[in-house]
Amino acid sequence: MASHRQTHSESWVWRGLQIVGILGTVLLISGLVVAPEISLLILWSILIPIVPASLLLNPLVWRNVCPLATLNMAGNRWGLRRRAGLKWTTRANLIGLALFAILVPARRFLFNEHGTALAITIVAVALGALVLGVLFDGRAGFCNALCPVLPVERLYGQRPLLRVGRARCVKCSACARGCIDLSPERSVQLATKSRGPIADWLRSPLGVFAAALPGFIVGYFTLPDGPLSTAVSVYLWIGALSIVSYLVVFSASRLRFITAARGLPMLAGLAALLYYWFAAPSVAAAVQAPVAMGQALRVAAFGLVILWLRAALAPERSARV
Ligand code: SF4
Repeated sequence: MASHRQTHSESWVWRGLQIVGILGTVLLISGLVVAPEISLLILWSILIPIVPASLLLNPLVWRNVCPLATLNMAGNRWGLRRRAGLKWTTRANLIGLALFAILVPARRFLFNEHGTALAITIVAVALGALVLGVLFDGRAGFCNALCPVLPVERLYGQRPLLRVGRARCVKCSACARGCIDLSPERSVQLATKSRGPIADWLRSPLGVFAAALPGFIVGYFTLPDGPLSTAVSVYLWIGALSIVSYLVVFSASRLRFITAARGLPMLAGLAALLYYWFAAPSVAAAVQAPVAMGQALRVAAFGLVILWLRAALAPERSARV
């Protein structure tokens, strides 16, 4: 589903939300330093769990308001506005995947409990987004290249349920190949070369990520938070389950013909279900709601994923892809 042009009033709403996003980030960074306990709780147990569901609805909900994207585009004003070549985009996508694999497990031994460390990391990433906006045209330096959330946006956002207007680039300068803002479906096809033969998509970086993600999520949620000294065991455990997950999917794809058009939505749906199965109880606990609310959130997430899978696996989509 390609994005549609937004109306004048929609554009003001998005602009307002972008300002709220920047102010909220400043507030969050300050809060992580002066009141880390409550700030970490709000971030990890309330705000972050909203993101996967919003990506299933439409990745533009997040991409239109993301404060890092706002900074990335702000950098263009002072910029050199260089075109990003395929070599840069390919390398930056790989670095983004590596950052995801390093930063998410680091929550267990650092970011879940140490507000200042997280605040410093957010400031560093925000400055990186700004500088890459100075160096490269549009969002080719960060949002469409180095951002560690990009593979998640591509995977969960491959078949949006809602139509959402493009709020950032009213006139597209074609700064990046396979931009999600133009077409989430095409973005995934280009990232996985999904027109290739069977299992080829599982050799692409996004295919590896998609197949490893269910194991990665189980690995993360089956660990407790611990001190810095547990870092190596955290990476080993999550890494081992990610590899097992990839191998299971790869073997299944060889036994049975599973195309990217079917495999990628199924993996995204499984990852989203696993995520909400584990995360829902902590969301309920964070707002001091009864245990039943955690169960209700699981049911709601299950309903959303089933609805999304029905649309994503519809025969007309497979035919198109
Ligand atoms: S490709 Fe177009 S829509 Fe996408 S970020 Fe670049 S300018 Fe914006």
